[in-house]
Amino acid sequence: MQRSHTQYTERNSLGLEGILELEMEVVSDYLHIGSGVYDIEIIKPLENIDQLVESALKGSIPNLNNYFSPVTHEMNKYLDKVIIPGSTIKGLVRTRLELSIRDACFIISRNANSSSSTYRRIFNNPRPRPTDRFPQRVCPVCDLLGNSGLASKVSFSDFVMTQGKIEYVNVNGQYYESSVKGSKFKGKVVYRSLKTIELGMLLYGFGLRVKDRKLEGKVMLIGRFKYSDRRFGRIRFSLLSPKQDYINALEDFMRTFRPFDYNEEW
Ligand SMILES: [Zn+2]
Repeated sequence: MQRSHTQYTERNSLGLEGILELEMEVVSDYLHIGSGVYDIEIIKPLENIDQLVESALKGSIPNLNNYFSPVTHEMNKYLDKVIIPGSTIKGLVRTRLELSIRDACFIISRNANSSSSTYRRIFNNPRPRPTDRFPQRVCPVCDLLGNSGLASKVSFSDFVMTQGKIEYVNVNGQYYESSVKGSKFKGKVVYRSLKTIELGMLLYGFGLRVKDRKLEGKVMLIGRFKYSDRRFGRIRFSLLSPKQDYINALEDFMRTFRPFDYNEEW
């Protein structure tokens, strides 16, 4: 739903409010977004532990490999469903906007992955250095998504896997729980006090572009191994109920900001 406010918001401007419902599809073979927790499970009970300890003390190191499963990196779960945290999605949108908008500051993307040659190949961009910014203006990305002193006008729900399959993929001897190609996640973005142009910016940050008078999601990179292993990390967003208003907002944003675009296929 998108409608105009009748009263002023705390930032003293009339704004749009509403909810975007998005679907994220995995277009690479796999997607792994780590939970930061990894499990090593004991697969054999250690019945003879005294014996093992004793032989270790005598100087012969027992081989314990058979007692443990290989390291397994899990995805985040909520109520048994695989999820991608809203903060991860927000980070994705934010880095793309910071890299695309000429006078944006560089909160996240400054240090991110700049050591990866694939990253540099994709995002090595002609944007002006931060010193070229207009200091009197709040950065448009911070104004939309907030920073330490400024509330975000947009909140991101977790994205829940609603369709598809999970596989454990072996990379260098460790297992990564992964959503396979064609898996789908759903999530919501709630926005308020937006100008039309900011709604367009938000859509742009999700990789949505206008093609043949329709919104189409471009391929974006996210998660583990996105710059190092082609089997991983490619996704595409789409809107569950696209509207002409969104196309207009996106075109309005692109006309005004002339944002940089990046081809994230490699
Ligand atoms: Zn900023």
